[in-house]
Amino acid sequence: MAQNPPPPPPQFPSPEELKSKITEFMKQNFGDHVSVATIAEPESAVAEEDEKPEKTEHEQFEFHLLPRDIKAHLDRFVIKQEEAKKVLAIAVCDHYNHANYLRRLEKEDPERAQEIEYIKQNVILVGPTGVGKTYLIKHIADLIKVPFVKADATKFSETGYVGGDVEDLVRELVHKADGDVTLAQFGIIYIDEIDKIASAGNLIGRDVSGRGVQTTLLKLMEETEVPVRSMNDLQAQLQAAFEFQRRGKARRDTINTRHILFVVSGAFEKLKEQVARRVRHGQIGFSAQPVQVMDNELFQHVTTQDFIEYGFEPEFIGRLPVRVVCEELDANDLFDIMKYSEGSLLRQYERAFRAYGIEISFEDEALRLLAESAAKEKTGARGLLTVFEKLFRDYKYYLAGSGLSQLRVTAALVREPRRVLDRLMAEGHKLEAQMLEAGARQFAEKFSSDHALEFVFDDGAVRRLVERAQAERMTMGDLCAHLFKDYQFGLDLIKKNTGQTRFIINAEAVNAPDKFLSELVVQSYYPAAAAQKA
Ligand code: ADP
Repeated sequence: MAQNPPPPPPQFPSPEELKSKITEFMKQNFGDHVSVATIAEPESAVAEEDEKPEKTEHEQFEFHLLPRDIKAHLDRFVIKQEEAKKVLAIAVCDHYNHANYLRRLEKEDPERAQEIEYIKQNVILVGPTGVGKTYLIKHIADLIKVPFVKADATKFSETGYVGGDVEDLVRELVHKADGDVTLAQFGIIYIDEIDKIASAGNLIGRDVSGRGVQTTLLKLMEETEVPVRSMNDLQAQLQAAFEFQRRGKARRDTINTRHILFVVSGAFEKLKEQVARRVRHGQIGFSAQPVQVMDNELFQHVTTQDFIEYGFEPEFIGRLPVRVVCEELDANDLFDIMKYSEGSLLRQYERAFRAYGIEISFEDEALRLLAESAAKEKTGARGLLTVFEKLFRDYKYYLAGSGLSQLRVTAALVREPRRVLDRLMAEGHKLEAQMLEAGARQFAEKFSSDHALEFVFDDGAVRRLVERAQAERMTMGDLCAHLFKDYQFGLDLIKKNTGQTRFIINAEAVNAPDKFLSELVVQSYYPAAAAQKA
């Protein structure tokens, strides 16, 4: 008897088999509530990644801008905040020029590159909500084409595990850079509500203290290596294992934070009082009036000590050498934002109305009124969103499909929106009726020339057609084509029988087109009888 060949060596399981094995294992050990997500790696993505060659030196991130280039770019979008634009433009240029310099030096003289002392130009932005802090940073990142990630400092409290969350921000940069770790290392991380993690002993979440978050952030702001894949992310870890098995080598697995620019921001509500008190005490030309806003003038007097008193660790605040204030926006600024910013909300409303076939335009006087109401909201430029949404909600609802093709936003409209809307709707109705009437006459003309006869709607028919088109929400062309679909055949027959070529269509025909036509046809066969009857 022939011997069976030896069994083949066990194969490494396919991802699906491995997944089911792991799921089984997890269930046995941890119960039903643990599941393993599918490790999906689309074929195209795999091929693409395999083929993606390492970037050559000159394909890597390069920076060649001047502070005034950055400021000019920001001026297109951001209104006011002149000082902030200038300070940020300089900080960003210094930061990326230094990165360029260090990269060159690393190649020429790695030892010296290690010794270079440099304090990163991380930024602290002070200012109330909605005045353009995020907007500034986002536009800088867009201009220099680096990834940008934003988070709220308060989020670090949610899981009770600060380190992982903070590192997730760095990983998010890789995600935003489409997996390009090299580019991610030049990204910008923006952390808002940083004032909420001030005051050292303050617990901001389950058991996370503000100090804990500061310490963790500090590490990132200096220099550290963050694993590309989170240790807590089983799926990512498995993916790495598969990749290793498939490619025989591991991909780059850490992100260095040395060149990542950190911007933190907050309203720092109490800071203005704190500083004003001291400044007043020193009597440097400040009145005894309570301070309403933190402006550039008052901000000149803010010191590192003020931030420490506010509740920041000295090391933490020391890593944020660039400090600038974004000032509050008044009604005039909000007007300018609508009128002159390239990102103006007006463009969004123009697009929204255009999609309904309506050209919207705004009178300056109306914009002034809108700016004033928005300023009362005390939420900066965000107030504009609230005011616009409230004002135009009904306009969008009722004017879309009303036949109106122009909407001029006047001061009267802003003052009495309901009344103006009613008037416009009545106007729209009338306009629509006129358009439908023209549509009916067009149909009759085309029918006549197509079939070599005279097909005429009388006034009653036109009125009834318009009523039906409006009630049934049909175009006039569709309605007529539907009502008079058999007329070509019927009228031809009559023409043959009697030689009649002119047909007057009345309201009855619009109500019951088939009945009207069949009576005409019958009459054409028995003209004498019809005449007698008449
Ligand atoms: P925050 O200061 O709270 O970060 P944002 O920068 O997110 O506020 O502003 C919200 C929105 O308001 C922006 O997306 C932008 O459309 C508008 N905006 C705010 N400030 C300005 C400004 N100074 N110039 C132009 N638009 C602004």
